[in-house]
Amino acid sequence: MTETPLFRRVALIGIGLIGSSLARAIRRGGLAGHIAGHARSERTREAAVALGLVDSIHADPVAAVAGADLIVLCAPVGAYADLGAAIGPHLEAGAILSDVGSVKQAVIRDLGPHVPDGVHFVPGHPVAGTEHSGPEAGFAELFDGRWCILTPPPGTDAGVVERLAEFWRRCGSHVEVMEPAHHDAVLAITSHLPHLIAYTIVGTATDLEDATEKEVIKFSAGGFRDFTRIAASDPVMWRDVFLNNREAVLEMLGRFTEDLTALQRAIRWGEGDKLEELFVRTRAVRRGIIEAKQA
Ligand code: NAP
Repeated sequence: MTETPLFRRVALIGIGLIGSSLARAIRRGGLAGHIAGHARSERTREAAVALGLVDSIHADPVAAVAGADLIVLCAPVGAYADLGAAIGPHLEAGAILSDVGSVKQAVIRDLGPHVPDGVHFVPGHPVAGTEHSGPEAGFAELFDGRWCILTPPPGTDAGVVERLAEFWRRCGSHVEVMEPAHHDAVLAITSHLPHLIAYTIVGTATDLEDATEKEVIKFSAGGFRDFTRIAASDPVMWRDVFLNNREAVLEMLGRFTEDLTALQRAIRWGEGDKLEELFVRTRAVRRGIIEAKQA
């Protein structure tokens, strides 16, 4: 499935799970004349070359963005302010600066001030991932059939947004344009809170007494194991997500805590009808996800 390159030179800043998957999807679709990569560590740079993910690899992000007409930040969002300060003055007029970060308001706060006049800033978030990290973990099909959300600031050239949307469609995604604050609220409940709950349950279980802890592993197929998959996600990436989507996560956490307390009360008072009514509703949500082919 080779098509006309959409971009002359794409610079990927960070080549972990998402950056390397994007590199593979770009290659699969023939979407760039040249893929330039930047990674912090020599180990990742060597892996990116060995895996054939990039046409050039750079220890300095400034060298990676030189001459690029699309730059995509694929590092943890806590690194964006420094990366923006470093690459901002070297971005070419007409280029599109985008990213894949899991939060959007903080990305606009941290990167926006570093975007020079003439450079188009269109933040993005592919809602696709796994619990694995690093360049080896990526695969070209990661974005197939998944949503990519774009959050262009007001006044962004519609043609530029469409060009980036077309790029993501050719990477396999469906594309939706959203307000950054709305994105952060939606993702707080669909992604960030579930991760927080998984981290909590697994943490609580590992704090149990030694003998019980061994049984937690042995009998994990009872449900616990599904939480451990989510709780194995990258610690630095998720630290940055919670620190940078603070308000929305705290809001959803407040609602969740109230609902949990209501369930606690229903169990204490033997109110089986309340429990059953909720479980019937939640089962329907699962069916909806399967029907939408997002399972
Ligand atoms: P990852 O596999 O851990 O890869 C992160 C990459 O960023 C690595 O190449 C790393 O370089 C580089 N990096 C880390 N800190 C850096 C810094 N301070 N300066 C420059 N480069 C740095 O992470 P990922 O899962 O691909 O996540 C990357 C981004 O995608 C995050 O913003 C995350 O919010 C977003 N995202 C993740 C998922 C998911 O499910 N994982 C889904 C959607 C969006 P080294 O390897 O050299 O350390």
